[in-house]
Amino acid sequence: MPSEFEIIRRYFSRPAPSALLGVGDDAALVQPAAGRELAVSTDLLLEGRHFAAGAAPRALGHKALAVNLSDMAAMGAAPRWATLALALPSADEAWLAAFAEGFYALAARFGVDLVGGDTTRGPLTLCVTILGELPAGTALRRDGARPGDDVWVSGELGGAAYALEHAQDAAAAKRLHEPEPRVALGERLRGLAGAAIDVSDGFAQDLGHILERSGVGAVVRYADLPKFRIADAALEQRCVLAGGDDYELLFTAPPAARAAIEALAAPLGLALSRVGSIQAGAPRLQLLDAQGRAMRHAPGFDHFA
Ligand code: ADP
Ligand code: MG
Repeated sequence: MPSEFEIIRRYFSRPAPSALLGVGDDAALVQPAAGRELAVSTDLLLEGRHFAAGAAPRALGHKALAVNLSDMAAMGAAPRWATLALALPSADEAWLAAFAEGFYALAARFGVDLVGGDTTRGPLTLCVTILGELPAGTALRRDGARPGDDVWVSGELGGAAYALEHAQDAAAAKRLHEPEPRVALGERLRGLAGAAIDVSDGFAQDLGHILERSGVGAVVRYADLPKFRIADAALEQRCVLAGGDDYELLFTAPPAARAAIEALAAPLGLALSRVGSIQAGAPRLQLLDAQGRAMRHAPGFDHFA
């Protein structure tokens, strides 16, 4: 069985050309470009909580990084460096090789270097910290929504939650286990969007975070929400409004930015749907059905509920 140091050397020591110093010292050294701010974010994935026991290691490597890349996308930051803290019940080399493969494959696609981490024995736990950069003052913060702004959402909602109930649906399973972080969209939205968030806990709840932080309300037309195909109407509503793990971007922008935002869809190969508008007043989401009547909606996912 390999030692902790053997594991690091064999599986997590690929070159990190974008760092001044990568894996192997007490800390990594990185330098953002002049005039750029660093965006920093951490996400923790726990077996039994965020993924099932026995989950495929390659997909876990992908997802551990993808959820962090999604946070960079939601800030409009370009992801650059990551660290990986791992607790492993045993040093299973086939598992480690597949996990590292999934992690590094996604990292390579987005130009992210793994520059450090920590490895210990324990219940399977994956914690990635990511650093990204962006021009000073241009981050897409949650407090940037203004009355009159449009509300937009990328891709489709509900697929990841649907997969939890229909594991045999391959398209839904891909949405849940191998989400595609919307990094290119996030970067292109700098200067266009007012506020942005990634949909990790469900559309209604995540939009709620923007409303709270911005001190505004919103009206959203359910019919205009982009939906993963789900035949059962009640299940569709639950997955689309309250389903987590979709990792689409939910953002606001003034009407003057409509044409510029619509023009992003084709080059990115990503649907961008205008689903409602921001209103002055209390931070409340008003959801309308096809006839313009108010709908009740389920809350999103809360780890402590
Ligand atoms: P320390 O004793 O200073 O915490 P470690 O012995 O834990 O250092 O780690 C040695 C080096 O390997 C450090 O540079 C650390 O960042 C890196 N490292 C440890 N675990 C991982 C991992 N899972 N992925 C990437 N780098 C790692
Ligand atoms: Mg250590």
